[in-house]
Amino acid sequence: MSTETLEFQAEARQLLELMVHSIYSNKDIFLRELISNASDALDKRRLAGLQDESLKADDLRIEIEADPEERTLTVRDNGIGMSRDEVVGLIGTIARSGTAETLRRLKENKESAELIGQFGVGFYSVFMVADKVTLLTRKTGETTGVRWESDGDGTYTVETVEDAPEGTSIRLHLRPADQEDGLYDYTDAAKIREIVKRYSDFISFPVTMGDSTLNSMKALWARPRSEVSDEEYHEFYRHVSHDWSEPLDIIQMRAEGTFEYEALLFLPARAPHDLYQRDARHGLQLYVKRVFILDDSRELLPDHLRFVKGVVDAADLSLNISREILQQDRHIQLIRRRLAKKILASIKELMGKDADKYRTFWREFGPAVKEGLLDPSEDHKAILDIASFASTAGEEPTTLADYIERMPEGQDKIYFMTGDTRAQIENSPHMEAFKAKGYEVLLLTDRVDEIWVEGVREHAGTEFRSIARGEVDLSSDEEASPEQAEAYAPVLTWLNETLDDVKDVRLTTRLTSSPACLVSDDDGLTPALEKMYKAMGQ
Ligand code: ADP
Ligand code: MG
Repeated sequence: MSTETLEFQAEARQLLELMVHSIYSNKDIFLRELISNASDALDKRRLAGLQDESLKADDLRIEIEADPEERTLTVRDNGIGMSRDEVVGLIGTIARSGTAETLRRLKENKESAELIGQFGVGFYSVFMVADKVTLLTRKTGETTGVRWESDGDGTYTVETVEDAPEGTSIRLHLRPADQEDGLYDYTDAAKIREIVKRYSDFISFPVTMGDSTLNSMKALWARPRSEVSDEEYHEFYRHVSHDWSEPLDIIQMRAEGTFEYEALLFLPARAPHDLYQRDARHGLQLYVKRVFILDDSRELLPDHLRFVKGVVDAADLSLNISREILQQDRHIQLIRRRLAKKILASIKELMGKDADKYRTFWREFGPAVKEGLLDPSEDHKAILDIASFASTAGEEPTTLADYIERMPEGQDKIYFMTGDTRAQIENSPHMEAFKAKGYEVLLLTDRVDEIWVEGVREHAGTEFRSIARGEVDLSSDEEASPEQAEAYAPVLTWLNETLDDVKDVRLTTRLTSSPACLVSDDDGLTPALEKMYKAMGQ
């Protein structure tokens, strides 16, 4: 087939442009991205061989070859490879959701390396250092290969080639070294060795250059925590999460006995933009005895902890385990429960040892975690133990334990009100009597709050009570005196007859400065929930 020239998809083109004009100062990371992709491809290749005897593969590895004269650097793997359609689909486009939005923000903040860090640029990062890239690949099981070539200017060529070796090789034609601009001589063996050691040491296949192997290949989750540096953990986190920022916390666990597994989990420092999208990528990587089996295994985590990243390595699962089986497997369910428990316990620990980190965590992921309160089978106490809420007591959110601790003599309930904003709730007439009494009120403004408060009755033996509900038993002086009742009777009758939409008009002393307020029935909907149902057309 002749050479075809194709255009990068619009978003891919924008990202490329950012790469070519390299807004990210650490250009070394292009090599980490290539090795990471090669490692993924080798994982898939190894698994294919385990599942199908005829595809058995050995000597899986990543080779780096540098040619200082030609100024080329080649990274080669004998992994799963790509078909022609895959090359066009995977390399020519960016399918990730939210790409357009991220790119827009990136463009507005040209100086911000942080932002691009969040994004994870993958393969395109090669254009930070190369002015021409040639990718040659042949997919396992196919007879012909594909050559892809681009100088990063918006178009690329693809052509079918007859004699490609299995796997993928990516040859970069390097731009001239210019250390001012963060461009090193990437054909220099010492530099390459340094980058591989630094970013890719844990990769489980040998990364070789000439006759030497550059990485130690040790599975990080199998090594004792004391032997692994933070930097190694962070690199591993980047590899599994495609998030460039450092994780907030690292959780390691090991279960021995009849069903053995090891897990290395990470709490990200920032919520991904698609945290609340149904189709977003999430889940853990599943390994069986050091062999990568599945990415994005949602089955390993309950939905409300879907932001946790990492690896589970189970000893006793079949290498042929499929997603369908995973959903029903008893061991997997057991692991999920244990991981969930451990994650919540770790967050609780974090509250004690690093309040700032905990606050960051809760700000980013609190609304997602609270979704767990909607599921009757989840441990609500454990979730509420790590929750915090805005409150009338101060600017900082409070935990329920602290709230209960502060309750004055005579208060026996956790009072809350739901609404759209803090200001809206604070200015609500419902609030007056509580202010007057000095009772603290939780200000619940996340959408999920509307729903969980309907089902969760208490925490640590103390009941929740909405202040927007009918009879809030603040104290006996809520009762109007008989004289007052008599004096207001005609007005009340008139109001009751005039206001059709209101069920009942009552005399109250709960207000101190507003003339009137709307309350719900004790078993009615809270005003905000009512509004939400209305908005949904119910
Ligand atoms: P990501 O790794 O986050 O998916 P990349 O931009 O790094 O994004 O890579 C895009 C896709 O191209 C990969 O998901 C993979 O399917 C494919 N790919 C890249 N490099 C290789 C390779 N060496 N072998 C096989 N497939 C590859
Ligand atoms: Mg990648």
